Amino acid sequence: MRLLRPGDEVIATHDLYGGAYRLFTQVVAAYGIHFHFVDLSDSAAIRQKLNARTRMIWMETPTNPTLKILDIRAVVEQVCGQHIWVAVDNTFASPYLQNPLELGADIVMHALTKYIAGHSDLLMGAVIVRDPELAERLAFIQNTCGAIPGPQDCFLTLRGIKTLALRMQRHCENGRAVAEFLAAHPAVQHVYWPGLEDHPGHVVAKAQMRDFGGMLSFRLVDDRVERALALMRRCRLFALAESLGGVESLIGHPVTMTHGSIPKAAREAVGITDSLIRLSVGIEDAEDLIADLEQALAGAH
Ligand SMILES: *Cc1c(COP(=O)(O)O)cnc(C)c1O
Repeated sequence: MRLLRPGDEVIATHDLYGGAYRLFTQVVAAYGIHFHFVDLSDSAAIRQKLNARTRMIWMETPTNPTLKILDIRAVVEQVCGQHIWVAVDNTFASPYLQNPLELGADIVMHALTKYIAGHSDLLMGAVIVRDPELAERLAFIQNTCGAIPGPQDCFLTLRGIKTLALRMQRHCENGRAVAEFLAAHPAVQHVYWPGLEDHPGHVVAKAQMRDFGGMLSFRLVDDRVERALALMRRCRLFALAESLGGVESLIGHPVTMTHGSIPKAAREAVGITDSLIRLSVGIEDAEDLIADLEQALAGAH
């Protein structure tokens, strides 16, 4: 955001991480930077917002929490040659599963807090760019503004990253086992996981990712807030928490947690309904995870 100047415009995915939405609309917008939130899978919608002031496209794929898939290459092709940075928040995929720079993006952002550090015990981020000049500008901004991580967080990140590949393999295996279990459960209305063949982004995900990850969401047949909260209270292995990407499985309720600051109409437009539950599937034994969900779902319908 510090690369931008007053008057610049950003086209961002409408299906955005809650913290990014809050940062853009409640902090950065006050500095005269304009944000357009659109469905980035709709090329006509992008064209409609593109103009000479457009400086950046901000996208996420898979998105949080409905796991929508955006075709990174298709977005890049739409704006190439126009001096517009394409930035991808790659936190959900991790670099093990997806490499946006290879698909033509200019900027990749990771919350290292999540999969890369992997143990839910630090807060840190990284921005990766292709152009050395842009890297220098960002390093200058970082040094000037003070977004510098502490040595203990750096140590923990370096310790965690050594097992990224092993952890991601297990997250993906467990993600599949849990998604397939939930998809077959009578109390579950819908499962959002890009590895399922009926997922609308499955074909693109298969092409731009190496596997489908351990993040998934599901909606209950009885689509009420109380139902979701009761289910979460019954879970014994899945801990109730907002974060994701750690070795331990987490469960969360976007409507009352991560997406509380997104207006109801806006969140429902992107599929975040009252009973939507998000899982960060960890690296525990898949059978234990399924057994926990099975007992928690009993009585949910
Ligand atoms: C958690 C998260 C962030 C922010 O990361 P922090 O390290 O918690 O500040 C950004 N984007 C996505 C998609 C996230 O899940």
